[in-house]
Amino acid sequence: MKNNIPLLEVKNLHAQVDEVEILKGVNLSIFKGEIHAIMGTNGSGKSTLSKIIAGHPSYQLIEGEILFKGKDICLLDPESRSHLGLFLAFQYPVELTGVNNEAFLKAAVTAQRQSKDLPPLNSLEFTSLLLEKLKLVKLDKNFLARNVNEGFSGGEKKRNEIFQFAVLDSELAILDETDSGLDIDALKSISNAINELMAKKAKSIILITHYKRLLEYIKPDFIHVMHNGKIIKTGDASLANTLEEKGYDWLKPNFK
Ligand code: ADP
Ligand code: MG
Repeated sequence: MKNNIPLLEVKNLHAQVDEVEILKGVNLSIFKGEIHAIMGTNGSGKSTLSKIIAGHPSYQLIEGEILFKGKDICLLDPESRSHLGLFLAFQYPVELTGVNNEAFLKAAVTAQRQSKDLPPLNSLEFTSLLLEKLKLVKLDKNFLARNVNEGFSGGEKKRNEIFQFAVLDSELAILDETDSGLDIDALKSISNAINELMAKKAKSIILITHYKRLLEYIKPDFIHVMHNGKIIKTGDASLANTLEEKGYDWLKPNFK
């Protein structure tokens, strides 16, 4: 049975960047265990939506609400949103020179636990957590000693995001173009890791993608199409086939 409160609820969201309105009334409800894909042409506002949900400081909310587990998160900083269980993977992951993966995750997990009044994990517990999740994403142990994203291949960066999502045990991940720049083997293996994480239906994800390819490996419950800052169409997984066949133009309001 479905819990009545969505995990994430976005209501009439209007947002701007540099004084320009980009999102023009987005509505979206995501329940626990669901996979939602957001598709749409370049510049339709997909990344802006993910950044405003994560609380990126350059993006201003001008109208509407973002509720996470029923709580209005609009005034929370990104770190507090993350502590509540939100995980955002950027379309272009940043490199952190001089910070190794293990130290980065230790700080993140400790801060997350602190926000729940939990003591830090001891090193044995932390190491076993990391090893378990490394296995899930099929990354080697020596990966922990490398600086975050520095010199990582496209596939490793994306795998690292899924690894972070797994280690932080977030409830909702927004994965922005996780499939971009991946060869077919990397795509399959990342999809397997995501499917494994989703298997218990305890987490939810928003997959932002241009391509049907990813959705052949990860089956979404819903597909939304964004255009000009709004969701103009929502359908089930079969919508991906229609979009592949017909493109986006037929959905656009003034298309003749
Ligand atoms: P998508 O991810 O769907 O390709 P984006 O959300 O990145 O679209 O962009 C939507 C629109 O907002 C585009 O017209 C883009 O140029 C504009 N935009 C996004 N970020 C910025 C920014 N930081 N400064 C100025 N314009 C931006
Ligand atoms: Mg984008």
